[in-house]
Amino acid sequence: MDYITIQDLEVFANHGVFEEELNLGQKFLVSAKMFFDASAAGRSDDLNRSVNYAEVCSDITKWMKTNKCRLIETIAERLAAKLLKDYEIVRKVEVTVKKPWAPIGLPLECVSITINRLWHTVYLSIGSNMGDKEKNLTDGIDILKRNENIRVLKVSEFVTTKPYGKTDQDDFLNGAVKLETLLSPHELLDVIGSAEKEMGRVRTEKWGPRTLDMDILLYDDRVIDDDRLTIPHYDMQNRDFVLGPMKEIAPDAMHPVLNKSIYELSLIRGRR
Ligand code: ATP
Ligand code: CA
Ligand code: CA
Repeated sequence: MDYITIQDLEVFANHGVFEEELNLGQKFLVSAKMFFDASAAGRSDDLNRSVNYAEVCSDITKWMKTNKCRLIETIAERLAAKLLKDYEIVRKVEVTVKKPWAPIGLPLECVSITINRLWHTVYLSIGSNMGDKEKNLTDGIDILKRNENIRVLKVSEFVTTKPYGKTDQDDFLNGAVKLETLLSPHELLDVIGSAEKEMGRVRTEKWGPRTLDMDILLYDDRVIDDDRLTIPHYDMQNRDFVLGPMKEIAPDAMHPVLNKSIYELSLIRGRR
């Protein structure tokens, strides 16, 4: 991917673990690589289609001077999140924070931290079979939208489906959501869990009735299997109520284990 680099922007600011660092301040050098598609800017010669690096430098300087962190790790983490949120076309950042005057009493050129952060692409399956099902789904999506680390990009049509697994209950309304997030898979699982709770979900029996169920189907091309999380969702390839809405919003999304697109998975499923 294309990127713009800011190299060693010098800022005098007050971060650190020691009293003197917080009171007297010291020099920091901040570098940022901002990854985005520069082709539109390149073709049009239009600054509005690029990342205005003068503005980025001024934002970083202002932020460095108005915040106090103990660790350079924290500075880097917060600056990375800020750049990713404030500059919409930036997909990924590499941020380096250097401390050339680190007070350790030994001669050293500088200490530094470098981190990479990006917007992750995620697909969710959502479902409801209690109360006002459509409202439950849209309210659930609104809870996600209120999270500053989540951007909801696409929502499928909702489809009415027969219950799966445990069939003696009301029909479901199901859909799929494409979002991008700065959260890790487990952090996203927590957000989803509290959204389900906020919508009044009580876990009683497996596959039983629920106001809101949100499952993570895909998270970039990550493969995870631990005691809390299985990604890709273990059964997505066998569920029409998942593949149908997914085919509408993301036919080309790849299942990283089966190595097939959603379109291919729904063809295979249709043949059964
Ligand atoms: P199913 O997973 O078969 O659709 P369910 O959605 O009804 O069933 P829940 O009771 O909602 O199951 O979830 C049980 C647990 O599944 C959650 O507590 C969560 O930790 C875990 N889990 C594992 N992988 C995922 C995932 N990809 N998305 C959401 N939850 C997951
Ligand atoms: Ca589920
Ligand atoms: Ca679930």
